[in-house]
Amino acid sequence: MLPAEEKPQSKAPQHVDIAIIGGGINGCGIARDAAARGYSVYLCEMNDLASGTSSWSTKLVHGGLRYLEYYEFRLVREALTEREVLMRMAPHLIRPLRFVLPHHKGLRPAWLLRLGLFLYDHIGGRMLLPPTRTLNLASDAAGAPLKPNGGTAFEYSDCRVDDTRLVIANARDATDHGAVIRPRTRAVSAKRIDTQWRVQTVNTSTGAEEIITASVLINAAGPWVGDVLATKLGINAGAKVRLVKGAHIVVRKVFDHDRAYIFQNGDGRIVFAIPYEDDFTLIGTTDTDMDGDPANVAATDADIDYLCHAASEYFAKPIDRSNIVWTFAGVRPLYDDGASDAKSATRDYVFELDEKPGQAPLLSVFGGKITTYRRLAESALAKLGDYLPELSRGRAGISSKAVLPGGDFAVDGLAALQTKLVSDYPFLDAGFARRLARTYGTQASVMLGNARAVSELGLDFGATLHEAEVRYLMTQEWAMTADDIIWRRTKLGLRLSAAQVAKLNAWMQQ
Ligand code: FAD
Repeated sequence: MLPAEEKPQSKAPQHVDIAIIGGGINGCGIARDAAARGYSVYLCEMNDLASGTSSWSTKLVHGGLRYLEYYEFRLVREALTEREVLMRMAPHLIRPLRFVLPHHKGLRPAWLLRLGLFLYDHIGGRMLLPPTRTLNLASDAAGAPLKPNGGTAFEYSDCRVDDTRLVIANARDATDHGAVIRPRTRAVSAKRIDTQWRVQTVNTSTGAEEIITASVLINAAGPWVGDVLATKLGINAGAKVRLVKGAHIVVRKVFDHDRAYIFQNGDGRIVFAIPYEDDFTLIGTTDTDMDGDPANVAATDADIDYLCHAASEYFAKPIDRSNIVWTFAGVRPLYDDGASDAKSATRDYVFELDEKPGQAPLLSVFGGKITTYRRLAESALAKLGDYLPELSRGRAGISSKAVLPGGDFAVDGLAALQTKLVSDYPFLDAGFARRLARTYGTQASVMLGNARAVSELGLDFGATLHEAEVRYLMTQEWAMTADDIIWRRTKLGLRLSAAQVAKLNAWMQQ
């Protein structure tokens, strides 16, 4: 054996079946499905996992009632069906939510809403979620925070999702099945050499370069899908992606019950008001075309005014800027179907397969929803089947049967899991246990280990965040900065002070 200093500097690049650019829900979902089927997978993400569009969603796993107006029946049916599939895969991250839709004279007629909700209840194979019902807002608690409107509302089912944790759970599961996941690693170029792609990446923290070869390449770069095609792959994609911005505001909670509202606006759009993180209400979203760098998108004064105004049309107590604790905005990387306005552009996913005889293929992903990411992953792999090893093809469909990390408990068992955590770790109060159950599912006890007192969790960073959790997130979930922890792996950023965040960051950088 050669002494260390005499070892050859350059080793042959690692070869994988599938290389993926982009660590959002679509890239990580494909990585998980592919790795579970037995393919070798390499995924690079230029920032933190889930730091792109997948962290800026309205956080719903939903059929998309509004898409029925645009005759998107395929998408709505698939999305409705996915709700219960995803609930079973990760009941801590995807939880049922009832939506109250007040009927408003002069907007969509009641018969149209009834028809839409009838379809919603019946086309998606609903088994767990309760059906639609009609409410009298004069007597139901859902009417209490609203301006009097003449009385009627519809209440229907969808789900909420912890979008960023769903991405990370998929990345974790992909790794558990052997995938290589590289956050903070930018794809800088990819070249086709006959039946292989040669992909060059750079670690954005250390500057280290890596070269891998792959039988197929998947461009799941979300809003950057066109940028990756044009500047990293040298392929002229034309104008296929339509960037549509959506902003949200988070305010101190404006109502006490656990249902969400879906409000119709005079401009034909809809705005959600969703109970969020126990003490807050999430209000969104807008729909505006944008150009420029998707990384620099933020909620503007106009976005904030629009959302405050839309919600105040319905809530008896007006929402103004003084209520706001957080704002965020993201960019939908929609497929450009030529629709005239942003709200009617298709939300369905579209693939572009670039294949030439005797050459390695490239699959680019446009559009999609968090809700349909698992089906998108299955379809992506089906498209690439001819280029992948025969051995693994028979294992398609694996992603609907296997639970995600932490999700191995009954679909309606979250409250029981929380009770068990309090019984196993009596130092947890109800709020702390609820947060851990919702964040980690059954993995909460792995994170807590053998602790018998809160002091055994180590340094206290505030808002129930302790050293044990930070260490777990750094070693098991790729966290490197305070923002990774307080915005993407938890939402404790809503509760921690600037000084507490600075202390956490300093400790993590030690
Ligand atoms: P992203 O999450 O953006 O991931 C792409 C990743 O690629 C990024 O992290 C980026 O850093 C990385 N990348 C780019 N270039 C490179 C490179 N050169 N090298 C390495 N990495 C690179 N869907 C729902 O189902 N429910 C909702 O409630 C919902 N609400 C939404 C609300 C808004 C305002 C928006 C904007 C979207 C919403 N969506 C919703 C849609 C959903 O969020 C997106 O469809 C989904 O997150 C897109 O995921 P993605 O993986 O394609 O993109």
